[in-house]
Amino acid sequence: MSDLNKGIALVTGASSGIGAIYADRLAKRGYDLILVARNGERLSALASRIGAETGRKVETVVADLGAQADLAKVEAVLKGDRNITLLVNNAGVGGTAPLLSADVDKMQQMIDLNVTALMRLTYAAVPGFVARGGGAIINIASIVAIAPEILNGVYGGTKAFVLAFSQSLKHELTDKNIRVQAVLPGATATEFWSIAGMPVEHLPGEIVMSAEAMVDASLKGFDQGEFATIPALEDSALLQAHEDARQAMMPHLSRSVPAARYGV
Ligand code: NAP
Repeated sequence: MSDLNKGIALVTGASSGIGAIYADRLAKRGYDLILVARNGERLSALASRIGAETGRKVETVVADLGAQADLAKVEAVLKGDRNITLLVNNAGVGGTAPLLSADVDKMQQMIDLNVTALMRLTYAAVPGFVARGGGAIINIASIVAIAPEILNGVYGGTKAFVLAFSQSLKHELTDKNIRVQAVLPGATATEFWSIAGMPVEHLPGEIVMSAEAMVDASLKGFDQGEFATIPALEDSALLQAHEDARQAMMPHLSRSVPAARYGV
């Protein structure tokens, strides 16, 4: 437990799974909390437990981030509370159905939550961070951001957005003392899987991490200054090679003439 006061962390999707573990760990690191999700009962129970265990102040905001009016309510909290120093964009839903057999309205709802809400909450938080000289954003992406073949393709697309958006945020905000981390979990033992259509018990145990281990590793990655954190990836040189290839291509991607191999 920490005596430090690090300001307030606002955690979305804190009523269960990964978000609830972030809430617990961040309180133990000295943050007060604002916890956001739809299930008010679960949020209140978690807030009471964490408050009692850590002595930190824990507030809850019941909101459906896929609904415009509720999303605006949380944006207003981020714009108005000058003590917020960390935004954890964690709320999200997935899908396991193949792209073309998935219900398109559900796909749209997934984009509303995983992309639109995350983007709007970031826009609501960042100007205050800049004005106050610092802050941090942890965006929960997924390994499907770089491996969209594994699950539903729209889900992969939403998480690729989270990674690309985070890369751009890091590029634009690092010199303003704003830390940005993108977390790319592999399969993690939460309700996510049953909601997405495949209970986690159906996955081979050796590819599933506990939410506790996933969050603890990601927070260590944050402490170590990582931008992209893939908790399960043993050989970090592979991620570096991926990034090196991206950086090597960057100066060559836009030219007045097509590449010679097209013979134009
Ligand atoms: P989870 O246990 O199902 O948690 C999802 C959280 O998001 C819950 O607190 C849920 O709370 C909240 N949420 C869902 N819809 C919402 C809405 N419309 N408005 C507000 N809150 C909403 O799943 P999880 O695994 O912890 O997922 C957290 C994040 O990790 C997601 O972004 C997911 O894509 C990502 N992720 C998970 C895995 C995995 O294998 N589990 C792997 C990679 C990435 P309410 O139902 O109370 O609203």
